Amino acid sequence: MALKIMLLMELSIMLTLLAPIVLVRGKLASKHPMLLLSAWHSSLLTAALALLLALGILIANGVLAQVDHPGAIGWLDPLAAAILAWGALAILGVIGVRIWWQADALAKEAREAADRFSVFFGRSVRHMAMGRWYVRLVEFPVPIVAALQSPRGIIVSTEARDRLSERELRAVLWHEDTHLAHRHSAAVTIGRLAQSCVPMLPAAERMAQATSLVVELIADDRAAAHSGAGNVASALVKLGGDSETTALRAARLRAGASRAGNGWKLAATGIWAAPLIPLAIALWPVG
Ligand SMILES: [Zn+2]
Repeated sequence: MALKIMLLMELSIMLTLLAPIVLVRGKLASKHPMLLLSAWHSSLLTAALALLLALGILIANGVLAQVDHPGAIGWLDPLAAAILAWGALAILGVIGVRIWWQADALAKEAREAADRFSVFFGRSVRHMAMGRWYVRLVEFPVPIVAALQSPRGIIVSTEARDRLSERELRAVLWHEDTHLAHRHSAAVTIGRLAQSCVPMLPAAERMAQATSLVVELIADDRAAAHSGAGNVASALVKLGGDSETTALRAARLRAGASRAGNGWKLAATGIWAAPLIPLAIALWPVG
């Protein structure tokens, strides 16, 4: 039992410390953004599950030692079991409060953004069909294309529409469609929630920032698959001006980085087996 708890704790701490450091290094984000995002979420889930199982076992031990049969734990006297159980509960409580607090702040932020959108554009919004999408076109002299979660949909400003060719516009709409279809706002939220759980860890902050970029690259790649990498790249330059990130994204597309092989897609799926490791440790009949 003690070995199980130690293994689960070590797995959780190791993943929390190492996963962000390993994942944000090198060219993984640029070459295989989908793999990076899957690996990140899978390691987060694995770390959280390992921690929950370790704390759960400690709490169960405390209850067993007090209520049921004091001699059953063997490796631990009832008082120590109770202290550890209360400690585990306190850790769970602190994590719960931090997540709830951050989730509340993020929800408020999203509501304010939606309010700003309706106040800012008000009645200038026209709903219209563009290709396979029904978008909200706003009369505005600055190029804006964005996927909004609430009210859910894609907005396009008249300036953005006028700057782009039909193919480029379609590419941009595929990009925004990906943000909505893959629930990228949730991915960014998960990154920020994880960061709030371990606020002292610079790697968690870097990972949260990397998530924001990685979802853009994933959306670029899907748009490129549907509308051609060249159209996505030229649309990015026309809309994004001369920002450094835009130039890098366009250069990446032109270099053909968006065409990930099937092996990598398989790896991105296979990596979701990682959460089975803490489950196997917890359910292992020995110990
Ligand atoms: Zn985007």
